[in-house]
Amino acid sequence: MTATLTHSVGIPDSEYRALRDRIFEAIWSELDPLEQQIEDAEQVPHDIVMPILDRIGALGLLVPREYGGSGLSIAQYLPIIAEFAKVQGGLRVIVHVHNSFAHALSEIGSDRQKADVLPSTATGRNSVAFALTEPGFGTGADLGSTAVREGGDYILNGEKWLITNSDIASHFIVFAKTTATDVSAFLVPRETDGLSIAALPETMGCKGTEHGRVTLDSVRVPATALVGVEGQGNEHLERALEISRVFIAASSLGTSERALELSIAHAKSRVTFGKPIGTRQAIQRYLAEMATDVYALRGILADAAQKWDAGERIPAEASMCKLFGLEAVGRVTDRALLIHGGIGYTRAHPIERLYRDARLNWLEEGTPTIQYLVTAGRLLDGYAFSDAFETSRTN
Ligand SMILES: Cc1cc2nc3c(=O)[nH]c(=O)nc-3n(C[C@H](O)[C@H](O)[C@H](O)COP(=O)(O)OP(=O)(O)OC[C@H]3O[C@@H](n4cnc5c(N)ncnc54)[C@H](O)[C@@H]3O)c2cc1C
Repeated sequence: MTATLTHSVGIPDSEYRALRDRIFEAIWSELDPLEQQIEDAEQVPHDIVMPILDRIGALGLLVPREYGGSGLSIAQYLPIIAEFAKVQGGLRVIVHVHNSFAHALSEIGSDRQKADVLPSTATGRNSVAFALTEPGFGTGADLGSTAVREGGDYILNGEKWLITNSDIASHFIVFAKTTATDVSAFLVPRETDGLSIAALPETMGCKGTEHGRVTLDSVRVPATALVGVEGQGNEHLERALEISRVFIAASSLGTSERALELSIAHAKSRVTFGKPIGTRQAIQRYLAEMATDVYALRGILADAAQKWDAGERIPAEASMCKLFGLEAVGRVTDRALLIHGGIGYTRAHPIERLYRDARLNWLEEGTPTIQYLVTAGRLLDGYAFSDAFETSRTN
């Protein structure tokens, strides 16, 4: 049985500010000092990081309060995931996937799945990963994995790869075909017989997080493992990815904000020909363009969050946020590198890492092409995204 779909209204402002300040403080005093270690070892030290994330409440941000989480609204969550993106991409990715797919389960999971998994997810004892992408097939509904009903069970077979948090996940939301055309979603515990996990090579940026290969070899799960309704996996997938695309755009915002801050500081301190480079019009133009991207991204994110929190679906808006976010963070990190000159290309400076981290935003939750297809498809179907000016006038 699927619970009613609702959007969280969030928590009182004073409580939110205390939580956010606590998390920001720990990000800069406890997690930022780990950056070099993570980049060098290409491994997030989970034994250090997860207890910190649990202590500051960063693992249950989108878990409803009745399941032991903080129950933040989307508008309250976005600044927090943006702040993680400033520090180190691998940490951001862990927190993003953990919260995003706990949120998905809280929206489309059965009451039993939520009761079984969410309370321990809020503390980091459990973590839900998202297993859609396959080596032999394409994006979304183009799946080779199958789930065949056998008595009261389903038998799953298939191959997934690039599955983030595959080293720490306790559960995978696995998408598989239940008929030649219908897709369904299943909540599969890591320890289930027939499920095996192998590491893939280290990534360009967002270092230290595992994005492994998950093989399903005659994995038997009970019918209660079905997430949502059989055959409606595509609808569930769209719902989960819709808001998760907004989270990726917020990550693009955090990376962009940090690159801009560092660039302003560098423009003031780097002196050539007797003057700070920030006095040169060419550098000023870069800074102004970067700030414009940051400002615009903040604006569309605030609009998307407000609509979602008010209970609206935002299929086109979410794809537009993700598309604009990845283009904006691309431009901002390009310009930040140019402002920093050669030293910015070395590991002496965080710009080099921000540049690499940003490139994952292209791929997570669908490539730019997929965002064009989703947005244009909606427009051609007659979808009209609501007018933010109208919304703000009537609120
Ligand atoms: C670090 C990392 C973490 C990831 N984490 C996860 C995760 O946790 N769970 C998960 O399920 N996936 C995850 N992914 C996978 C990610 O979502 C995909 O890589 C991404 O959506 C692109 O899909 P693909 O790799 O299959 O590329 P392809 O589908 O092979 O695409 C290659 C190119 O072809 C284009 N293309 C493909 N099909 C079409 C089409 N029909 N029309 C037009 N153009 C098309 C694409 O836009 C792209 O430019 C992760 C990827 C990375 C790199």
